[in-house]
Amino acid sequence: MHMIADNLRFFQTQLAGTSCRLVTVTKTHSVARLQEAYDAGARLFGENKVQEIVAKQPELPADIEWHLIGRLQTNKVKYLAPFVHTIQSIDSLKLLQEIDKQAAKHGRVVRGLLQFHIADEETKSGLSLAEAHEILQSEAYQALRHVQLTGVMGVATNTDREAQLRQEFRELRGYFDQLKAEYFAHQPEFREISMGMSADYLLAIEEGSTLIRVGSAIFGARQYS
Ligand SMILES: *Cc1c(COP(=O)(O)O)cnc(C)c1O
Repeated sequence: MHMIADNLRFFQTQLAGTSCRLVTVTKTHSVARLQEAYDAGARLFGENKVQEIVAKQPELPADIEWHLIGRLQTNKVKYLAPFVHTIQSIDSLKLLQEIDKQAAKHGRVVRGLLQFHIADEETKSGLSLAEAHEILQSEAYQALRHVQLTGVMGVATNTDREAQLRQEFRELRGYFDQLKAEYFAHQPEFREISMGMSADYLLAIEEGSTLIRVGSAIFGARQYS
């Protein structure tokens, strides 16, 4: 009956007393189910498609923090700029520049995470550490005023091998630590390590996650039509 609320309560209990927060991944689910999650206390919502997040956002309460967690094309940033809280999937300087430009039009600062490639799968996107250094050292990046990097994000390999998952989470945490020390030591806002999903969030928390992104463990399996 109240499956969504029960599942959220479970996560709220799991995370109580930790510095990790839950991003409720709402992709493919109806506005009514999102409202149910909101009513049970969820406030950070993650969607992976621009069209879907843009359609749902006006239908739901204004105090939701919307996170974009899927690949983003520069020509779609303008649709997100009025409301998005954090873009977790930043993988180029070009994207950062476009976010800055569009956020400026709305007098906003949009938060962003640098997405790293940590999985043992060619299909999963993200930066290498060298590419991230190149971006952060560029004058073009340093001139941006309407986008603020608040951490890193990664998607681990789809496997149940615990040792491999731990290694990938540690890799991402290592990237975070290096970037923090080199570029963000005086910016307390740079503090997020977004890692862990329904199948691997416990390991991710143990390895230092500050944002777990959980969908199916809250809503059940997704139906793609
Ligand atoms: C769909 C998705 C999730 C959530 O996946 P579940 O296995 O349903 O918890 C997390 N992160 C990203 C990037 C996703 O696309």
